Amino acid sequence: MHKLRRPIQIFVFLLIIAIPLINFYGIKLQQKDDYAIKDSWIYSEIHSFFEGYDRSEAVELTHKVKGSVWSMDIMGFKVSDPLAFIESTTITMYLYLPLLMSIIIPVVLTVILGKVYCGWICPMNLILEFNDKIRSLLNKIGYNSRDIRFSKNTKYFVLVFGLILAIFAGRPLLALIYPPAVISREIFYRVYNGVWGVGVTLIGFILFFELVFSRRWWCRYICPGGAVYTLLSHFRLLRIKLNKSQCDLCGDCIPVCPYDLKPMTKKLTAGCDQCGLCISVCKPGALKYTLSTNNNYRNSTLQQRKTIVASNGIYKKRITEKQEVVKDFLINEKSPKNNMVVEK
Ligand code: SF4
Ligand code: SF4
Repeated sequence: MHKLRRPIQIFVFLLIIAIPLINFYGIKLQQKDDYAIKDSWIYSEIHSFFEGYDRSEAVELTHKVKGSVWSMDIMGFKVSDPLAFIESTTITMYLYLPLLMSIIIPVVLTVILGKVYCGWICPMNLILEFNDKIRSLLNKIGYNSRDIRFSKNTKYFVLVFGLILAIFAGRPLLALIYPPAVISREIFYRVYNGVWGVGVTLIGFILFFELVFSRRWWCRYICPGGAVYTLLSHFRLLRIKLNKSQCDLCGDCIPVCPYDLKPMTKKLTAGCDQCGLCISVCKPGALKYTLSTNNNYRNSTLQQRKTIVASNGIYKKRITEKQEVVKDFLINEKSPKNNMVVEK
């Protein structure tokens, strides 16, 4: 299943580029600005798709889908980001029913499938995953990026503080720092005005800070939308689970996780975005998507856990961290509730 993720991410990214381009082409068509259409290869290409239609039909078709991942209108059916609803409702103190209806699909999907928006849809995540590859490359050639950590609760503070500020400002502020909204808006500016806005500076700063100082820091500690999705996915049904009999204790799933979760040893928190990167580096069948409401691995055998402590996987630089994780795991496993004694 995780193999579908990359094509979906790329499709969404292309979609948020294509929508403003097609809408803008429709405006030029309506204005009968044929020169602007013929003068640009991209609008000429789009024009070739609509050649069989007369002008008014083509104009109508180009506006069937409007908006972005922040708020989209698909043939009159509206879908909005839950953060857009929360921010707008907080500022206006008014429950606008159509806006509430427009978040039902993302909310239900998140409650059932977890933070799939982050792992499978968010355009920023796609960019960050490529940035991750550059970070790994830099580390391979000898530049050691730092890994500064903050409290994981920082993003909830950003969310609440941003909402309070937005009330005073009387306008949405979180949308200004929410990467999917920023990226969509920047593409819109570029298409409609021919220039980039200040949002590209924010995206550039996030990427730079991530390369040099802290891996996936924005998603882990800051993103207000990520905070909302994390809250919604606490009781998700889809979870990554470990099949202990298949696990060969290599520990590869630990450093690959962008959210610093421990798929092999600890229960996965709602921070898991279902990206499946841990599955892709794991032996087939050891980690897999499962429908379940709980996810702890308390029945791991003592031998398995001892082997984890001693394991010396391919990510030697992270071995100390792995051992810390496992130590922590062993300590937690000694709870009287499961009546388990761990040999030293
Ligand atoms: S945390 Fe924010 S930026 Fe990161 S993937 Fe989720 S929505 Fe996108
Ligand atoms: S635990 Fe696995 S699926 Fe979840 S975020 Fe980490 S790598 Fe992705």
